[in-house]
Amino acid sequence: MATSITGAHVIARTLKDLGVTAIFGIVGVPVSDIAEEAINLGIRFIGFRNEQAASYAATAYGYLTGRPGVCLVVGGPGVLHAVAGVGNAQANGFPLLLLGGSVETHLITKGGFQEMDSISLLTPYTKLCIRAPIVTSLPSTIANAYRQAYYGRPGTGFVDLPADIIMDECADPSDINATPQIPPPPKGGADDAQVLKISRLIKNAKAPLLLIGKGAAYGRAEDVIRRLIDSTGLPFLPSPMGKGVVPDSHPCNVSSARSVALKAADVVLILGARLNWIFHYGEPPKWNAGARFIQVDISPEELGRNAADAELGIVGDVNVVVGQLKLQLGDWRYDHSSSDYMAKLANAKLENEAIAAKAAGDPSIPLTYAHAFDTIKTALHSLSPPEEGGIVYVAEGANTMDISRSIFPLEHARLRLDAGTYATMGVGLPYAIAAHEAYNGPGASTCSGPARRKKVVAIEGDSAFGFTGMEIETMARFQMDILIFVINNSGIYFGDSDSGEDWAARQAKTVGGEAGLRSWALGWEIKYEKMAQAVGGIGYFVRTPEELRKATGAGFKAKVPVIVNVIIQSGKVEKPSFGWQVTAKKKTNGVRL
Ligand code: ADP
Repeated sequence: MATSITGAHVIARTLKDLGVTAIFGIVGVPVSDIAEEAINLGIRFIGFRNEQAASYAATAYGYLTGRPGVCLVVGGPGVLHAVAGVGNAQANGFPLLLLGGSVETHLITKGGFQEMDSISLLTPYTKLCIRAPIVTSLPSTIANAYRQAYYGRPGTGFVDLPADIIMDECADPSDINATPQIPPPPKGGADDAQVLKISRLIKNAKAPLLLIGKGAAYGRAEDVIRRLIDSTGLPFLPSPMGKGVVPDSHPCNVSSARSVALKAADVVLILGARLNWIFHYGEPPKWNAGARFIQVDISPEELGRNAADAELGIVGDVNVVVGQLKLQLGDWRYDHSSSDYMAKLANAKLENEAIAAKAAGDPSIPLTYAHAFDTIKTALHSLSPPEEGGIVYVAEGANTMDISRSIFPLEHARLRLDAGTYATMGVGLPYAIAAHEAYNGPGASTCSGPARRKKVVAIEGDSAFGFTGMEIETMARFQMDILIFVINNSGIYFGDSDSGEDWAARQAKTVGGEAGLRSWALGWEIKYEKMAQAVGGIGYFVRTPEELRKATGAGFKAKVPVIVNVIIQSGKVEKPSFGWQVTAKKKTNGVRL
């Protein structure tokens, strides 16, 4: 007689059949049975301190590995916290399979333990949102959610797992569906007439520009895009996470002349990016009103959005379409020597690079952002040159993310994660864990650049760090040697005060009014490094370039998580503003300027 098996075992078995090697989550009864069964089958279960962080990690793992990341949480509040990751997956187009526990089927509407209608909550934000109806069909239910998360523009597949289904026993295992095979998504290309039309437009452009987004990185299109740029000489601009698809050091990279390129471009080829806030909707004043936008995107719904012209759009996989375009363009090359546009870009590059070099040398103490980042960069490059691709950068925070983006060059794809399309704060530590698992974990299959083992370096604003700072314990528990810099100006954006005394005096007047602490304030020079020490890691508190250089070198070599708490200038008398929001009105809202 066959031995009976539980729903929990069937779920774990299905994940194993789908090739899942890591699950991110937090357990409670009876979801813990699934995690335990998964561990017994050789799948890593990475237990977090908050479902929000676990769900963020699963999304980034999905982006880096190119297959859905899996997140397992309890029902009610567990699912509610994980909605953060679901929103993040939808906004960024990351593949996520979320498995959430729920109340026993017969207790629905009775006020059962952690009862919540997850299906109604998640339906608008998921590609498939379904309750598992019966143990025997669990494999096909889960595989379908996985496939829908994976195919087309990636997003979330959610399966609600009632406690009675998880704990149910199936007396005859032969009744259980086999797990359907889910091969990588088929790749579509463009029709020949459209390729011909687009290639003519590109050849006739006076000021062409390529935009490279994280869809190109996700689609692993780096080789074909590099070949296209090498053969045509077309100037390109990566999005923040499209950095590295083509090396930042490539002579056609016009990142340091971004504003000039946007304003002057007349024909823009968009490879796996959207005309959303990151690229200013393709509209004036950042862009030239007459610019023509050619989108190459896996999602038909994206075509024609904002300033883009749907008639120029191509639905297809970026790898295939760029290959077709390259073939059509043949040995045509954009002539830089007779282009005023290229001359303008070259001048702007020189000017901006000189400004950046001057900022990096600012000798002030406390350190400026630019000087702190330059010091970290120099120390890291001496240990791991960018050509080797041995470092994955994670960056979040407002100024921390924006300023560091242009300072740390990338030579390979998928080596930078940041707050992304949703500008989500709190993703930094979870993303760092995901990157460590994706590149160095037992199931690691993804690579970028010659270095197979990667050091993960998280550059965190002090506010951003606070959202998920407790995940330092998760890193320590899983022996992840992640190097974290907390760029500490004691506040959000520029903070509120420029000295400890001023901060204390203002704190004393908490009643408000002109003198009280403003909304940008955080605790003064908090000793974040002690959080690493508390969990068995190493912490450094640094103020000077020399201390920072030493801590970076030691932190890079450490085998445990490290926090380098970098005190930088605070409370600068500058208006907190958001560079990406060009239309924002200049208002102070009572902030001291
Ligand atoms: P970024 O933030 O880097 O500008 P976005 O996330 O806004 O990038 O846009 C990425 C785009 O890439 C999405 O519209 C998505 O549909 C698209 N995409 C994802 N994978 C592929 C692929 N393999 N081929 C073509 N387009 C893709």
